[in-house]
Amino acid sequence: MDIIRLYNDFGIEYKTEDHKHCRPGWVNCECPFCTGNAGLHLGWNLQDEYFMCWRCGWHSPVLTLSTLLNIPEYDEVRKLLPQYGITRTVIQHKIIEKIDFSFPTNTNELQSNHRKYLLNRNFDPDKTIEKWHIKATGPIAMLDKYNYKFRIIIPFEWNGQTVSFDARDITDKQLNKYQACPAEYEIKGHKQILYGNQEKWNPDIGICVEGPTDVWRLGEFAFATSGIKYTHEQVRIMANTFKKIAIVYDDEPQAQIQANKLISELKFRGVNAWNVKIKGDPGGLSKYEANKLVTKVLRNK
Ligand SMILES: [Zn+2]
Repeated sequence: MDIIRLYNDFGIEYKTEDHKHCRPGWVNCECPFCTGNAGLHLGWNLQDEYFMCWRCGWHSPVLTLSTLLNIPEYDEVRKLLPQYGITRTVIQHKIIEKIDFSFPTNTNELQSNHRKYLLNRNFDPDKTIEKWHIKATGPIAMLDKYNYKFRIIIPFEWNGQTVSFDARDITDKQLNKYQACPAEYEIKGHKQILYGNQEKWNPDIGICVEGPTDVWRLGEFAFATSGIKYTHEQVRIMANTFKKIAIVYDDEPQAQIQANKLISELKFRGVNAWNVKIKGDPGGLSKYEANKLVTKVLRNK
């Protein structure tokens, strides 16, 4: 498969093995599945033809290309693949070997260091635990070969079941601020659902944000796309769930471009969507500012 030609054609930034983040035989680009600090974590193995992110694991080639290139999965990606020498074998036989869902080892109740982290960010630890069922890890926490030490474990619940998780570093010293559940352990991928409390959603109006802490700040009307690179699956869920959606992504140019793209896609599907610009990101707002923002959005209901 000619991944380099495909990346060039679609303007995807990539690096090959002369780059420090690349092992020989791999072509790396930014992973569309994991949030947090940017980096070229998603590798394409040239010889065996599969995607692997060193933060969030194996991903199906069709879903990965659909997310990366932002084109619908089953029709367009499949039509596109033969032009780049992508064979049926790549699509059909590299099937993910699913492992039973599990949190990292030693996932427990929050300790004083986790509580301190939340308090420093103006989150009430007890309320956050109660509402969002968060858990925590200490110095030893592994899931397969992935290390999850010193993190707050954020369960992703969907239709009453825990299907995935994300994990926030509380030391602010680890390479990845967020480290997602490896794909092979997910019951449902975190980019195939929306993060939030489904039972509390209001079909009249929803507030779309980037990540879990933004949801915690804005409360039960909010849901997150796990990064600004939303998927078609997520747009479909949004359009089936809400009549109106206010988008509150952070104020960086790339996030604003994505917000406006999302608005067009939602409008195309008949959702009344609009952009709410704020300074910084929603998770960083004070409780007072957050309440004011939510009240203002709801007035539009
Ligand atoms: Zn990843």
